[in-house]
Amino acid sequence: MVEHMKWWGWGRESVSFSHGDKPELAPFIRTHIGLDITRPPAQAPAFADLDVAEPTLPEPLRAALVEAVGAEHVHTDTLDRVIHAYGKSLRDLVRIRNQDLGRLPDVVVYPGDEDAVRAVLTAALDADAVVIPFGGGTNISGSLEAPRDEIRPVISVDLGRLDRVLDVDTDARLARVQAGALGPHLEEQLGAQGWTLGHFPDSFSHSTLGGWIATRSSGMQSDKYGDIAEITRAVRVVTPAGVLVTRPVPSQSTGPSVREMVLGSEGRLGIITEATVQVHRVPEERVILGYFFPTWDDALVAMREIAESEAQVTVTRVSDANETRFSFATRKKGSLASGLVSSGMKQYLRRVRKWDLEQMCLSFIGFEGSAGHVRAQRKLVGEIVGRHGGLCVGTGPGQLYDQKKFDTPYIRDFLLGQGAVADVSETATSWSTLAPLYRGVVARANKAFEEIGVKGWIMCHLSHSYHSGACLYFTFAYATPITLDAIVGYDTVKSAIQQGFIDLAGTLSHHHAVGVEHASWLADDISPAGVSLLTALFDGVDPGRNLNPGKIIPAGSPPALSPAFVAHAVETAVIDAVVDAGVVDQAAGTEAEFGAAEIAAARVVKAEAVEPAVVEARVSTESPAEPAASAEPSEAAGGVGAAAAAGRAAG
Ligand SMILES: Cc1cc2nc3c(=O)[nH]c(=O)nc-3n(C[C@H](O)[C@H](O)[C@H](O)COP(=O)(O)OP(=O)(O)OC[C@H]3O[C@@H](n4cnc5c(N)ncnc54)[C@H](O)[C@@H]3O)c2cc1C
Repeated sequence: MVEHMKWWGWGRESVSFSHGDKPELAPFIRTHIGLDITRPPAQAPAFADLDVAEPTLPEPLRAALVEAVGAEHVHTDTLDRVIHAYGKSLRDLVRIRNQDLGRLPDVVVYPGDEDAVRAVLTAALDADAVVIPFGGGTNISGSLEAPRDEIRPVISVDLGRLDRVLDVDTDARLARVQAGALGPHLEEQLGAQGWTLGHFPDSFSHSTLGGWIATRSSGMQSDKYGDIAEITRAVRVVTPAGVLVTRPVPSQSTGPSVREMVLGSEGRLGIITEATVQVHRVPEERVILGYFFPTWDDALVAMREIAESEAQVTVTRVSDANETRFSFATRKKGSLASGLVSSGMKQYLRRVRKWDLEQMCLSFIGFEGSAGHVRAQRKLVGEIVGRHGGLCVGTGPGQLYDQKKFDTPYIRDFLLGQGAVADVSETATSWSTLAPLYRGVVARANKAFEEIGVKGWIMCHLSHSYHSGACLYFTFAYATPITLDAIVGYDTVKSAIQQGFIDLAGTLSHHHAVGVEHASWLADDISPAGVSLLTALFDGVDPGRNLNPGKIIPAGSPPALSPAFVAHAVETAVIDAVVDAGVVDQAAGTEAEFGAAEIAAARVVKAEAVEPAVVEARVSTESPAEPAASAEPSEAAGGVGAAAAAGRAAG
């Protein structure tokens, strides 16, 4: 029996967030977003109230699926279909609370081995059905939903029965693990043999190895263990062309990495059934220490110096002043951390250290290994922290963070019930652009709050440090009625933040994938030529677009590299803000930044778009020297993405 989360929210039915034991939280939330969380919450939606369309499953397809996995593993019941409809993004949670179920899968199948997965895929392709692999359903990028207008049968393939560690090669320190293994079950099996994967995303309890690989996930201890992209050394994937198998060698020179193509593929290349992953001996000692820094700027420099130093840490995480204050507000009465900022400590920091406590930042740094190793690393880190005005506050806050990190996700449902949205957006950027990106994104979010007329809150932490940079993880919240209209306001804030990432030298996501929610920034991030390459890859593997269509690349995109694709890319990128002579500033700014020739070319194509045949002819025949030639994929790279960016920024 495969276990699932609540159909309407995060986690187990029996667990929910409560503020009762956190006396400072209600006043904090009232002050900062004007919401009274002591009021009785809205009831969770009732399953019986859902209006669920009947599944469309042609009999020959049903028979083939039964043949593939066995009748008891083919489910068309309403609950199973609803559970497999969405992930757990804020948009998903709001839609489901408002009974907007989107395009439900018609059937959910639970294959028990790779042969069954192959048989399911064959049956699906024969019937021209859509196949959506399902891990734990925790993604927050819209990576699971079928396109709303999908008319073909939709099959959700739940990998939950493929949940075993198959073997551990103790010399190579590699384990073969089935893709449907959930975090806790995977660690339990490895732990029984003295090993750990070391991959602990905050969604660990409910996400799977296959999902981590398909979204390029990153865990809290990535500083030591690496992101899933490094941890995964080889994959087995059932594709329309057969089973794709890569070798678990430490490195190879075999053309573009096929393993890397599978990483982050969100089900568009096939169904991952198994992976070979790096494992490590369970460390002798594991400790997370808390540190305070006087300011965010001091903390950022310290994090960079730790990354540059010889210190080998497992976690580097520091909260900005807002997130630090929020952390203090969620302290439990009588907890380890409740005395953390005692009045004595406050006085010391204020009077002796001359800190402005409103600017103080809380950091966690993790250490693992032998006792001697941990001691040496702590010393190294302590020196760096000290140089930047920080001080160690012991293991209390770290232990608390470690204990409660998997419970924190329940807070989103709690806030939705109280009438507030809370969500996250994260990026990665280099050490040199981190501070300006942070400031710019906070400013844009605050402007977006103003635009939609709410009292908003934004906070951030740095985590996942690398040689050249780190991840910045923003959380924002504000009070609003939780109707479907809430998504409109939410989109304004979320888009402002995402656009900030792109404009300020970040990436659209460090570890939350593209899905449908981030797809409109992809051309800006990887260039239109990059999008074209991915489209060619997906279309080459899956010409019928049966595999999780619409994720990463939007569903309606014409085939890659065709004249129609080029025309489409240009048309959709030329936003009214650019062509509308009334919006002079926007157009002028865009022109200055991205080049008059590209904008002129875009205008020509846009003007002719009413006559698609003319556009197509022009795109395929114009000489490269002519303005319209910048509609060619390679030439148009800056123009298309830039014009799209200008349009979104204007919107
Ligand atoms: C509260 C919360 C906290 C989170 N914290 C983190 C975090 O710390 N780090 C992080 O990286 N992410 C985090 N996430 C995001 C999410 O957990 C990750 O994206 C995770 O990797 C998804 O795994 P899953 O098994 O739930 O996949 P699903 O949500 O089931 O699927 C995600 C995508 O992968 C595809 N897929 C799943 N399994 C397979 C397979 N076997 N073969 C092919 N394709 C497959 C699906 O089709 C879909 O496109 C968080 C999400 C939430 C809600």
